[in-house]
Amino acid sequence: MSQPLLIYNTLTRQKELFRPLHEGRVGMYVCGPTVYGDAHLGHARPAITFDVVFRYLQHIGYKVRYVRNITDVGHLEHDADEGEDKIAKKARLEQLEPMEVAQYYTNRFHQAMDALNVLPPSIEPHASGHIIEQIGLVKEILDHGYAYESNGSIYFDIEKYNRDHRYGRLSNRNLEDVINASRELSGVGEKHNQVDFALWKKAEPQHIMRWPSPWSDGFPGWHCECTAMGRKYLGNHFDIHGGGMDLVFPHHECEIAQAVASQGDDMVRYWMHNNMITINGQKMGKSLGNFITLQEFFTGANANLDEAYSPMTIRFFILQAHYRSTVDFSNEALKASRKGLERLIDGLTQLDRVQATPGGTLTADYAATLQQKCYDAMNDDFNTPIVISHLFEACHTVNQLADGKATVTAEGLDALRRVFNTFFSDILGLRTEQSGSGEREAAFGHAVDLLLQIRSQAKANKDWATSDKIRDELQALGFEVKDTKDGATWKLSK
Ligand code: ZN
Repeated sequence: MSQPLLIYNTLTRQKELFRPLHEGRVGMYVCGPTVYGDAHLGHARPAITFDVVFRYLQHIGYKVRYVRNITDVGHLEHDADEGEDKIAKKARLEQLEPMEVAQYYTNRFHQAMDALNVLPPSIEPHASGHIIEQIGLVKEILDHGYAYESNGSIYFDIEKYNRDHRYGRLSNRNLEDVINASRELSGVGEKHNQVDFALWKKAEPQHIMRWPSPWSDGFPGWHCECTAMGRKYLGNHFDIHGGGMDLVFPHHECEIAQAVASQGDDMVRYWMHNNMITINGQKMGKSLGNFITLQEFFTGANANLDEAYSPMTIRFFILQAHYRSTVDFSNEALKASRKGLERLIDGLTQLDRVQATPGGTLTADYAATLQQKCYDAMNDDFNTPIVISHLFEACHTVNQLADGKATVTAEGLDALRRVFNTFFSDILGLRTEQSGSGEREAAFGHAVDLLLQIRSQAKANKDWATSDKIRDELQALGFEVKDTKDGATWKLSK
């Protein structure tokens, strides 16, 4: 690859040349889900964005340790009325152990990630399994004088920190703005300053998820887990920390403060953030009634959806925008994405059928140019929509080859197939099956193929009754059967 990889760093607000701290190895940490409910479109975007980063870094030769956590300790984002953490609240309402709730939604999250073809991270640490590390972090910050104890809880002293280091570097705000913007939150009476955040919170008597600490029986503040687990698995300094843009402030800003207060310098080299998804121009939220879970997308079981959308349509929809752009969901946009993906899949299928011609007009140069353009786009801060547009353009050429309007050499054809497969499957992580994913769907596809084989045997034997019956019944079940000169193909109509 001739072009170096450029990554936009939220901290410096510019694209920077990517240089890993250790040659040939990359450490990457991405904030994972809080497991008290089903994952929605907002979870799919960071998962897919950083899946492509993970795939691409590996593709260009790095050994990547990718850490994505599970937040299973209800953090301080309390319900204002009850002051109860969300996992514990769900557990109480459903009469379950809090860990049963967390496990249930972790399993559901994994299922959705599998369907979206998101690779599992190298390490998936749970916040509840790293209380000791979080207590260790809080102790260090206390020892260095950047935190104080108040009534069994420990708070980060932002004013003191801001005097020695600047608070607000990542989100580009100064402390005064933060003070002016801060609302009164629970526990404000114990804090020296309303902007101070909790590192450790003493548990109220009714609080179920609690652990012993030198200060009180309680639980860690939300920001602690990522600093503690990132450091444990990736070291004091690592390359990439990612997440959604909504995490820049306060979560990641507080992570930076915790890292500097505990170890004296920044832990993270490149901060990467994906932009948000809106629904018909509105922010997504339970209270707005436009909240759609991933499982609902896959089954169509939500009043906001005209129909079900396959996981690959969702993945393609997300990759059609650059990760730093906003994406607006609508049924029309998803239908357009499905069409676009079908065009690419059609190109791949046709490419399989194209035959090479000795002395063909298209040579390996064509594929080499296409490949270079795709790498250039990826190297420009992972510009997936540009990669997709190059593949679309190449589909036009593939169509010409399939229609006999152009010819290609054997070498040229091999090279073109390789470029398509590399970018479509390995880097963008797309699959050709539209109906879903997994073994069940694959078995289902093979069964339809088998029926069509029996049908073609029947046709060869001039058994028209059997042949027509298979076609008609498949059509009645919603399959579109198309006869070609090489046999029959099928797809699910709709
Ligand atoms: Zn985090």
